[in-house]
Amino acid sequence: MHDLTEGLAHFQQDVFPAKAELFAHLATTHQPQTLFIGCSDARVVPELITQQEPGELFVIRTAGNLVPAHPDAVEGADGSDGVAASIEYAVAVLGVRSIVVCGHSACGAMTALAAGQDLAELPAIARWLRHAAAAGAPGGASAEAPQRELGALIRGNVAAQLANLATHPAVACALAAGAVTLHGWVYDIPTGKVERIDPAAGRSAALAA
Ligand code: ZN
Repeated sequence: MHDLTEGLAHFQQDVFPAKAELFAHLATTHQPQTLFIGCSDARVVPELITQQEPGELFVIRTAGNLVPAHPDAVEGADGSDGVAASIEYAVAVLGVRSIVVCGHSACGAMTALAAGQDLAELPAIARWLRHAAAAGAPGGASAEAPQRELGALIRGNVAAQLANLATHPAVACALAAGAVTLHGWVYDIPTGKVERIDPAAGRSAALAA
């Protein structure tokens, strides 16, 4: 907690004054152009890797950058309302023009899926990861997932989450009107590079794995 307090002090004394005009503008303006859906992973920081200022990204971060399909599209859907509400707000109210779903290397959620990890003691995670069912997890029981398989799963998951995203009525509406574009990315932690995922190609690659 000490680190956070020190960080706050640094922000208030040094960073905030340099951007005081921006923050004054943002006090009454919220017009982000992009909805960025990434993993909660501490190493993948949306504003840092895209070099965006406060006010420019509307961010949703979930374990495994999962986007549950819209509750109306899934029988017995649970636990997805917070994500659905955030998507609806970003698209229908704020009018974002683009949506990025960003996966990343060494993702803990994808590693668990790729390795077929026993999640009996982690029931919330086990339930949550069902939203990645279409990502093409091998469902095997290998203790260590080969990197190639993990990479394919990470890419397939981004494609699967883009498909889930399109089940949300606000997104479907905006897509039909040509008001929004969807983008799939995979961020590589050790190099900082971003691979673009073509939804269709990603899905077929995952299926072939
Ligand atoms: Zn992750």
